[in-house]
Amino acid sequence: MRVLVSGASLAGPTLAYWLTRRGHDVTIVERAARPREGGSPIDVRGAAVDVADRMGLLPAISAARVRTEAIEYVDGRGRRKASIHPEAYAEPGGRDIEVERGALVNLLYDATKNDTEYRFEESIATLAQDAGGVDVTFVRGGPERFDLVVGADGTHSIVRRLVFGEESRFLRHLGLYVSIVSVDPALGTENRGVMYNSPGRLAGVYRYRGKADAVFMFRSPELSYDHHDLHQQKKLLSDVYSGEGWQVPALLDAVAAADDLYFDAVNQVHMSTWSRGRVTLVGDAGYCASPLSGMGTTLAMVGAAALAEALESGEDALARYEQAHRPLVTKAQASVSRGAGMLVPATSGAIWRRDQFTKLLPMLLAGRRLVGR
Ligand SMILES: Cc1cc2nc3c(=O)[nH]c(=O)nc-3n(C[C@H](O)[C@H](O)[C@H](O)COP(=O)(O)OP(=O)(O)OC[C@H]3O[C@@H](n4cnc5c(N)ncnc54)[C@H](O)[C@@H]3O)c2cc1C
Repeated sequence: MRVLVSGASLAGPTLAYWLTRRGHDVTIVERAARPREGGSPIDVRGAAVDVADRMGLLPAISAARVRTEAIEYVDGRGRRKASIHPEAYAEPGGRDIEVERGALVNLLYDATKNDTEYRFEESIATLAQDAGGVDVTFVRGGPERFDLVVGADGTHSIVRRLVFGEESRFLRHLGLYVSIVSVDPALGTENRGVMYNSPGRLAGVYRYRGKADAVFMFRSPELSYDHHDLHQQKKLLSDVYSGEGWQVPALLDAVAAADDLYFDAVNQVHMSTWSRGRVTLVGDAGYCASPLSGMGTTLAMVGAAALAEALESGEDALARYEQAHRPLVTKAQASVSRGAGMLVPATSGAIWRRDQFTKLLPMLLAGRRLVGR
């Protein structure tokens, strides 16, 4: 088959890896000029660890591992109020890996670039399918025909919009916005996330492997802005956080100077089907669970492998892909309900309760373990 994939992040290259192994001819178009490395560390969990293992990437992923020793909540003067030590609660013998997002993006690109045709600064303009194939026009290149088109182009997928309709029909806003930007490592403490809250807002610095990211998360109903307008996103952030204490002014200076920024609503994508004819979706494009789930990378990698496997067996391949992968998606999407309350409490009272709960957590967990025995 000639397969066109839109998006060269995590889902797209994972799919390309498995399809080219099976002899298919894969082209990936990516709107950016190169694979986008930004973002904070992400989790590779459960079945995604097995997918990475089968791709031979586990040693390299493990080498780029990030270990979060503590998440600390501080007040406006930077004094520590409560802290969590995630490794203390990790499942004994668990294989989940927290890894630099950029390192994973680059590993997947390197593992596929020799067998996959990558076209950067390119995007699909139109799609028209008939029983025998899909005719595609591009923003830059000339028209071509493919046997299958896959949208691996994230929550604002162009493939989804062209084939299934406006994104407002599928995006479920969870009442928050998130932004991540690289900052001077001197602003952070190695292997720690330091978080400051005011009602409805979180600002933090997460430092790992000698680098640091500022993280902003704030409660807001849906905002109207241009997803491609960096200047507008910077202005939104500086308006929301103006006058805040702690290190926020220094973090906003980094925002002002940044030439790339991850800024998006915290959304989920809900669709009754991910496929129509010879077009299908994989990863956030079809079933984003939101950063609050910690499952975006896992759903993308496992979904890509499931799609490639289903395509092996011909008839009803896309229906079988959905059948195999939907239970994991449903579970991940249902898991986010408590995340926002812990990270971005809405009121001063809720911040205080979150801090008290965090202080009591080790005791609560130890008690539960005792009872469990
Ligand atoms: C720069 C960046 C930073 C991120 N940071 C975080 C983070 O800190 N924490 C977190 O939980 N998640 C983050 N994410 C999201 C995370 O990568 C995904 O949730 C998850 O890994 C699923 O990956 P995906 O491949 O399905 O989608 P995504 O990772 O969203 O990738 C979609 C890709 O498609 C490309 N694309 C979009 N539109 C088009 C188009 N019209 N034509 C061609 N290409 C297009 C994008 O440039 C991108 O490379 C980030 C995503 C990006 C792109």
